[in-house]
Amino acid sequence: MVDSGLYDAYKAALSGCSDSSARAVMVLVEKCQGAADFEKALEEGYAAIVKTFGSAAAQVALEFYVSLREASGVSAPYEPKAYPADVGNLLPYEVAQAVASTLGDSAKLADLLAAKSTQHVLEHADQTVYSNALRDPARPKWAIVPNPSACDWCLMLGSRGFEYARESTAKSARHANCRCTPVVDFDASNPALDGYDPDALYDYYSEHLKGKWGGRRSGSGGGKRPPAVEGLSSIADVKRYVSETPTLDDVHERNQKAVQALKHMFGNDGEAYEKAFRAVSASAKRRYRELAGE
Ligand SMILES: [Zn+2]
Repeated sequence: MVDSGLYDAYKAALSGCSDSSARAVMVLVEKCQGAADFEKALEEGYAAIVKTFGSAAAQVALEFYVSLREASGVSAPYEPKAYPADVGNLLPYEVAQAVASTLGDSAKLADLLAAKSTQHVLEHADQTVYSNALRDPARPKWAIVPNPSACDWCLMLGSRGFEYARESTAKSARHANCRCTPVVDFDASNPALDGYDPDALYDYYSEHLKGKWGGRRSGSGGGKRPPAVEGLSSIADVKRYVSETPTLDDVHERNQKAVQALKHMFGNDGEAYEKAFRAVSASAKRRYRELAGE
């Protein structure tokens, strides 16, 4: 059982990181108005903000992880550390897209980038929780807990409940403004968190969302897709790519790139994406088991 007090403090600290990054982006957009090269100044400032508050979020997640680990009394030696999310190459693309799509409306531009920045900041927390859970001999389970106003996509992810890190590839599929919270529980036989009821979410998902998912379009998702991943232009490419993951350390990054490539090809939702995702994740899981010596 995850300690509720620790969890609440952790969630508040993560919110602090994402709120601060959103505010910093607002200030940045304002400040860049006078810059000689607006887009370049914005790009640099945006990358710095994501790095600063992302590192802070990774640190917050690390402290949470360490506290839970200590409280659980596991004895296996392991040194948890912070893992930054590898998002740097996406940022210039986001800035260019945001500038192009908002047509000089700086309030809209600021909103858009602020929302994306909070996503990336929390991805640092995800990466830290995930990467430690993957390596830790204590084998905790992890989950992404939907926040109270979460969208259907996040409710669907939340309905999967606590899992071992290896199964969670799709959980890193955060979206702009997503405030869901990555957690771990070292009590892997009975992981639980007050107020988080994956079974109820699963029932809701089965009743209201399953099957309809293919036809859904999230409000902001629409036609926007992430950039292509070089060398990955077909499902076969992506399958090969995850099948050739060289070490355990590369698993998360390769899986994320694979997801990005598929999203580029198929968009975020729809049956075609789901089908491709399932095919690729089977290859990814097989490779993971080989690397983990299972
Ligand atoms: Zn969410």
